[in-house]
Amino acid sequence: MKLHVLDCGAMSCDLTWLLLKPGRTIRPRSERDKPVEWYPCTTHAVLVETGEGTLLWDTSCPRDWETRWEPTGLQEYFPYDQVTEEQYLDAQLGRLGFAPENIDYVVLSHLHFDHAGNVRLFANTGAKLICHQKEKEFAFGFEGPFTGAHLKADYEGLEFETVSGDTEILPGVTLIEAPGHTPGTMAMRVDLPETGTMIFTSDAVYMGDSYGPPAVPAAIVNDLSAWYASVEKIRSIAEQSNAMVVFGHDAEQLRSMRTAPHGYYS
Ligand SMILES: [Zn+2]
Repeated sequence: MKLHVLDCGAMSCDLTWLLLKPGRTIRPRSERDKPVEWYPCTTHAVLVETGEGTLLWDTSCPRDWETRWEPTGLQEYFPYDQVTEEQYLDAQLGRLGFAPENIDYVVLSHLHFDHAGNVRLFANTGAKLICHQKEKEFAFGFEGPFTGAHLKADYEGLEFETVSGDTEILPGVTLIEAPGHTPGTMAMRVDLPETGTMIFTSDAVYMGDSYGPPAVPAAIVNDLSAWYASVEKIRSIAEQSNAMVVFGHDAEQLRSMRTAPHGYYS
């Protein structure tokens, strides 16, 4: 088993989106004139090679983000402008010797545009596209072309298989229900022979600062009480399995990790 972390660069954004924290993003009176903190909102995908198939976890942002996101207005708030040519998802896969046709499963933690932005690369390749049942219901169920960061242009017309409940999808790879950020957000647990357990939280936990304890909320949460429960669920699984917890958008953490194509976890 080999697990590759694909560093797909970063969006830039006001950190307040990710972390509602007094003293960091919420200012005391002594700092009322200090500018807001803009943060490199890193984005990653994970490629897991197993004896029973190859799985891609999330697909990051698209190359054409500026025009594709334009209807939402969010390209002004989350410009995907800290990315090199070799960091785009297709280039990251290519550097590892993978084409979209070589991937058996593409699992979306949720269908926001910075996670599902490249899922269309896997249309008609034979890959199974997988998300949570509640995510599919929500993402296909609203009126109009977008709501928040769910953008139908990313995924409309694609066939998704769905899971619900915590699901072992390949030996040693388990999808964990972690709703709150969106109705069907999932985390992924991978039990590796040498490294041990890794948990990829996606947007169930944005960054180490969000994890706490106590957990620190964000501006983009669909259901705050579900979100808190999901953070504690992940914490409890992580404690039982002594896992390395990898957060969805933590720039400092991502930079400290082994990333493709130079390093991997096994
Ligand atoms: Zn999201």
